[in-house]
Amino acid sequence: MSATGVDTEHFRERLLEERARAATALEHLHASNAGSLEARRTRCRATTHLAEMASVTVEREIDYGLEESFEHELEAIDVALARIEDGTFGACQRCGQPIGAERLEALPYVTLCIDCKRIEERG
Ligand SMILES: [Zn+2]
Repeated sequence: MSATGVDTEHFRERLLEERARAATALEHLHASNAGSLEARRTRCRATTHLAEMASVTVEREIDYGLEESFEHELEAIDVALARIEDGTFGACQRCGQPIGAERLEALPYVTLCIDCKRIEERG
């Protein structure tokens, strides 16, 4: 139990599961990127169609976005695991209030309570 009354052992397990899932997804993404890139090169040798090139650019951006979001997720999970270690897990990083077990259950690596999240989103 942490100072905020959160069952950190439960969330440590959840975070490790999420971490494995995100790492696997990232690996698959890298593997499929390598494969499709090779297919595109072959296609480009045959014909350099402008429209096709445009669609490839869009696809690349989508792949990059996905890859980036998994990388951010992994980072956030590592931060959350470190916060379990130092006993601050479950407390909002902005106001220090408990984030809430329900919110942590949905997203175990969040660092802000719902109120602070709303304030940050408003800017
Ligand atoms: Zn807060």
